[in-house]
Amino acid sequence: MKLFGTAGIRGTLWKKVTPELAMNIGKAMGTYIDGETVAVARDGRTSSVMLQSALISGLLSTGTEVIDFGLIPTPTLAWGTRRHADGGVMITASHNPPTDNGIKVFNGDGTEFYVEQEGELEELVFSGNFRKAQWDEIKTVKAMDIIDDYMGAVLDFVNHETSLKVLYDGANGAGSVLAPYLLREMGARVISVNAHVDGHFPGRKPEPRYENIAYLGELARTLGVDLVIAQDGDADRIAVFDEKGQYVNEDTLIALFAKLYVEEHGGGTVVVSIDTGSRIDHVVEKAGGRVVRIPLGQPHDGIKKYGAIFAAEPWKLVHPKFGPWIDSFVTMGLLIKLIDERGKPLSQIIQEEIPTYYLTKKNVKCPDEFKKAVLERAYKALEEKLGGAVKEVLTISGYRFQLKDGSWILVRPSGTEPKIRVVVEAPSEKKRDELFELAYGTVRKAAEDAMKGA
Ligand code: MG
Repeated sequence: MKLFGTAGIRGTLWKKVTPELAMNIGKAMGTYIDGETVAVARDGRTSSVMLQSALISGLLSTGTEVIDFGLIPTPTLAWGTRRHADGGVMITASHNPPTDNGIKVFNGDGTEFYVEQEGELEELVFSGNFRKAQWDEIKTVKAMDIIDDYMGAVLDFVNHETSLKVLYDGANGAGSVLAPYLLREMGARVISVNAHVDGHFPGRKPEPRYENIAYLGELARTLGVDLVIAQDGDADRIAVFDEKGQYVNEDTLIALFAKLYVEEHGGGTVVVSIDTGSRIDHVVEKAGGRVVRIPLGQPHDGIKKYGAIFAAEPWKLVHPKFGPWIDSFVTMGLLIKLIDERGKPLSQIIQEEIPTYYLTKKNVKCPDEFKKAVLERAYKALEEKLGGAVKEVLTISGYRFQLKDGSWILVRPSGTEPKIRVVVEAPSEKKRDELFELAYGTVRKAAEDAMKGA
């Protein structure tokens, strides 16, 4: 596929994403979708209105009726699509830089398009075989404000009142129109930063990885809050700091929820992406549940395939009982409920319930044409060196050696850069360092040998 990546269509304006492309996606979607109505929405990027207008034009040209939700977060579009339409399209580049934009496509039940569907839609775009509505078949655009309804649905689902003090950072993204008000409705005392929508992202980069939001730790301590919540540009992702101003590791957040769900259900399957750590397995297995690892970008697929009660990637949590999409609003509501119900500060809950594992990652340079050979060589060498310590090998976008003591080694080719990624995690720093030396050394040697033609 040329257009769709692991998270819809995304790229730099004019280089990849253009109004012409948006119009063609609109035409293709209107032709493809089984139904009459498609919902559209956009994030706060400077190019989003332009792209959304082209998209709507394309949809209308096929005789599709359009509902325009306006500027809202991606989870809200997914929820609104399930409630009001037969399909949904979001104009967003999520956490990418302000120069980028993109398009995400949803089914009538709120799931993101499955990989096969993306392929079919793409084929339609390239074939140009679109439905053309005659003059008396063309429908209209209905504007609809669903923010209050969505907020009500989240509040009903979470069903909890709090008095916690919460610091919120919206990245000047689409979450700003909703999150502070949702938290306030729950009873929280809310302090907001970067919470006016601005497509230039003047406050910080829209990706909520630790390096971009490290300042929130000190701010949390200065303000004396119980919890910090940060979102990405379209507010499906969430990052968290505890009351001490410590960043909560992405796997720890997943483990907290996985544990909660498995305990509630007395078992069940949790699906997580291939790059997540062993603390999740540790708590899930102890609670009588099962962890299944799946490729990146397909939690909705995993839920369907394994009947999962919870699905996640780092920063992206899916609560299937609410809906089969990534939803940071449900996550923040349930996290506050968890803290209140435990009656302890978040740092203490984590310390008592989630084990610590130690992770290191580093890339090995490798031109695309050598990637396959290097992966094969390194696999054989690692298999030999690790021997009886291996519990299981997962082969999803590269491979992951799962060891008996909970350590793991992930070797996977970058999809976008001339690099092979090596990730190691272990229950102690010593074990992590030993394993990393072994794994990184092995992959680097395999790369040198392959390029030499040895
Ligand atoms: Mg996002």
